[in-house]
Amino acid sequence: MSTSLFDISGRVALVTGSSRGIGRAIAEGLLDAGAVVVLNGLDPQRLLDTHRELVGRYGAERVHARAFDVTDGASTAEAVDWVEREMGPLDILVNNAGIQHRVPLLELEQADWERVVSTNLTSAFLVGREAARHMIARGRGKIVNIASVQADLARPTIAPYTASKGGIRNLTRAMTAEWAQHGLQINAIAPGYIHTEMTQKLVDDPQFNEWILGRTPAHRWGTTADIVGPLLWLASDAAGFVNGQVVFVDGGMTVVV
Ligand code: NDP
Repeated sequence: MSTSLFDISGRVALVTGSSRGIGRAIAEGLLDAGAVVVLNGLDPQRLLDTHRELVGRYGAERVHARAFDVTDGASTAEAVDWVEREMGPLDILVNNAGIQHRVPLLELEQADWERVVSTNLTSAFLVGREAARHMIARGRGKIVNIASVQADLARPTIAPYTASKGGIRNLTRAMTAEWAQHGLQINAIAPGYIHTEMTQKLVDDPQFNEWILGRTPAHRWGTTADIVGPLLWLASDAAGFVNGQVVFVDGGMTVVV
């Protein structure tokens, strides 16, 4: 089998929320595979630091950065236009930016519900729509939405997160229903529990840590590196007939009770 099926060198990729965590690992994986990568985050200083570090490793030609709020339609449209103008046709979009907010449903404020849903779900619609406008005109493009095991499973205190990730699952299908015919592949990756800043408090909680190890057949937390291989596959020509799927990368958590 030819490995050229997996060759994404020179392709232009935008990864939202890539100043740290899973998004950053995905950006580094794409850079290792030879892609040109545009980083994004909300905090300009954190983004600048990550940008500087990655430019040091991969060169200024291949690493770019733009701070914008993925929940803001106008900024999102400007950012995608900027990528197309400055870096060339956008081949790969990874909708990764996301937040968590833990509080019981009865105590949940509407503003917090809306903040989580707009950051985790509306953002994928906004950035995805802008990217697809360009991709459809060219008849090709890859969109990978980052979901979660919470696309399928609920847990107390994280209702807006669970609702937003279930939404990502079906948004991935809705995008497929309308855009696959134009040569786009839109899929999702659903990570299990991954050790990042978002989950640091859980890692530090001995009881929760024990529960995770017992609940995960692979008996460990995931690492950001675990997400990279499946992402590179979905972003490459090797996944040319994979449409609307959610790939669980969770050490087996969702297949056992
Ligand atoms: P982190 O909190 O480590 O990183 C989140 C990233 O998203 C940061 O770069 C942050 O930028 C950016 N971001 C947040 N809000 C916005 C916004 N409005 N506009 C632009 N960028 C924004 O999270 P993780 O790496 O842990 O999670 C990344 C994705 O993976 C999320 O979608 C999450 O739901 C999902 N996921 C994570 C799991 C885990 O166990 N960690 C498990 C399953 C899914 P800044 O720092 O500037 O705010």
